[in-house]
Amino acid sequence: MNCLDCHPHTTPAVAVCGRCGAGLCAEHLVESEDHLTFTAVINREVQVSPSVRHLRCSRCAAAERAQAMRKAA
Ligand SMILES: [Zn+2]
Ligand SMILES: [Zn+2]
Repeated sequence: MNCLDCHPHTTPAVAVCGRCGAGLCAEHLVESEDHLTFTAVINREVQVSPSVRHLRCSRCAAAERAQAMRKAA
């Protein structure tokens, strides 16, 4: 598979976006940490350590940031 964001150039993909499934090269890859949660007593969300790897293309990363900002507001 090749990087979608490099198209029409062909750069081999090193990862896949976890949301849209696009192939990504190291340059277009957005890697961050994500904490899994579980719901404790009285619906309290608790984060679990260690964090999991969160791989996104730049477009999905931007969309998720926009969603996170909406949630925080
Ligand atoms: Zn690329
Ligand atoms: Zn994506």
